[in-house]
Amino acid sequence: MANKDYSIRQLVEMAACTNCQICADVCPAVSASLDGELSAIYRIKGLSEILKSRTGLFRKLIGKKGLSEEQWKHFSDTVFRCTLCGNCQEVCPVGIHLRDVWLSLRHDMVHSKFYPKKIDMIQANLKESRNVFAEDNEERADWVEDMRDAPEHGYIKDQAEIVYFTGCVAAYFPLAQKIPMALAEILDVGKVDFTLLGEEEWCCGFPMLGAGLKEMFKEFMDHNLEAVREKGARRIIFACPSCYQMWREYYPSEFEIVHASQFIMELVKEKRLPLQELPMTVTYHDPCDLGRGARVYEEPREVIRSIPGVKLVEFTQNRENCQCCGGGGNLEMIDANLSAEIAKRKIEDARSTGAQAIITSCQQCVRTMTTYVKRNKVPIEVLDITQLVQRALKK
Ligand code: SF4
Ligand code: SF4
Repeated sequence: MANKDYSIRQLVEMAACTNCQICADVCPAVSASLDGELSAIYRIKGLSEILKSRTGLFRKLIGKKGLSEEQWKHFSDTVFRCTLCGNCQEVCPVGIHLRDVWLSLRHDMVHSKFYPKKIDMIQANLKESRNVFAEDNEERADWVEDMRDAPEHGYIKDQAEIVYFTGCVAAYFPLAQKIPMALAEILDVGKVDFTLLGEEEWCCGFPMLGAGLKEMFKEFMDHNLEAVREKGARRIIFACPSCYQMWREYYPSEFEIVHASQFIMELVKEKRLPLQELPMTVTYHDPCDLGRGARVYEEPREVIRSIPGVKLVEFTQNRENCQCCGGGGNLEMIDANLSAEIAKRKIEDARSTGAQAIITSCQQCVRTMTTYVKRNKVPIEVLDITQLVQRALKK
């Protein structure tokens, strides 16, 4: 247990909560579960009580006790049933950096020994395999073998101008592997000099922060930085918004980092991608870490509009108000039913736009929404923006 898991800024911000409850109104976990205890306001109140119970000499003197083991467990359960979507932070009128508080709170819960046991599994996987799924890290770039026209070097060069950092989900999940395949094809058509890191790519660190395991992060960050330096690269491309977000916020700013949607937009503007007519009506889902997290809203939309024949219709709640798909914050591992319930609402919203396909810019969003659509036989397609562009490339 440690109040030092929180910064002074966080403590000051939390004290400013006005109990307005606006955060609860926009929380996807609350609306999908109808459980108000999953809201930011409940958690801020609970955390304030915990902090006081640890330090308040006056409270101890007048006989106020801290939380019982049962209350701790209950509170911890609410902490991890959150997608870290940042919607609460977006609307909080007093500007509390709630997403940061949730990360610190998860760290605190792990210190306090009240956390879901699945986190032990995440920790063991990362320690042993360097990826979150306990896969063989030497197989990180094996998806290249499934490409039709893969070059002999398998996209692993000694030196290149650009590194494409794939991330764990795209590297190992068959459904998500279509995304790096699509991006590699786009980069080839655009004649981009890029390399993968292969087995030298380790987890970016996001699952560690999301699981309250931030002590592990530095080793992974140092390794990844060195691996990129060895390639002599100056830029790194990410199709995964969480990897992109980690490198933006937690890695030193040694390299220029760019999300795939931004990079594709550059290629389109430089007329390096020949795009053919694609008659489709699509809607665009802003991934939480790319949209609210990195404020990248326009480039993906520009890419979509640049494809002849594609019509973009918006979700009612879009850009900074976009509702999470249910796949963030390790929620799927902690509470798969709640994750699926959030996905269900997302898919219903998408259907109401009349779109034939949901386009997003995130492998985890693709995985979460596709899983729901397939299980429930919903007639709508889910594609990453790289897959949409790949489909439009003139063959
Ligand atoms: S981050 Fe998202 S899921 Fe978590 S409390 Fe805030 S609004 Fe709810
Ligand atoms: S929106 Fe901000 S100020 Fe309002 S209850 Fe939630 S945390 Fe407190």
